[in-house]
Amino acid sequence: MEWNRSETLALAAPACNICLGLGLRIGRHGATHPCNCVLRAIFRACFDRFRESVSREKYMSRVTLDPLPGRDRRGSWGRKDEEFAADFCLVSKRTLTEPENRIFKYHFLLGADWKLCCTKLGMDRGNFFHAVYRIEQKLGRVFRELEPYSLFPVDDYFHGPSKNVSSCLEPVNVVPIRPWKRQVSVPDQRTA
Ligand SMILES: [Zn+2]
Repeated sequence: MEWNRSETLALAAPACNICLGLGLRIGRHGATHPCNCVLRAIFRACFDRFRESVSREKYMSRVTLDPLPGRDRRGSWGRKDEEFAADFCLVSKRTLTEPENRIFKYHFLLGADWKLCCTKLGMDRGNFFHAVYRIEQKLGRVFRELEPYSLFPVDDYFHGPSKNVSSCLEPVNVVPIRPWKRQVSVPDQRTA
């Protein structure tokens, strides 16, 4: 995906010294990149929705029927809250390194504050918060750039249109172990 100003402007921190509230920074050869304040805002929006999903009473969970594109137009039943929470955890686990993953688990999933995390992980306060910012920026970018269904914008995840999705697996040509021959019974002319 291409990051542009209309994408980042609403998410940028107005007092940001790097992007001056525009949400974009200019990199090498004039390429534009999202500012870290935008990436952190995306992560926080997804994290807030994740907390809402997991803290909601289970009897309030709703089942939805989503139409699938295709010839037969059949739908698929799903639980969007649970799917979002699972995507949030699994994408984070896949993206982060092992040390980052431990901080993510203690601080974001288990809710430990910085003092508890620093004691448990043997870190000082400065390194801990640098790591937390790095995790937020890394995940914010992945949550937005994820294909075909990104976690952000959150409303699109829950209420957006369904997309044509094809399998990421390569088609496999199955070769039979024995060559298949058609058995044709030809009547013997001599006995007929
Ligand atoms: Zn910024």
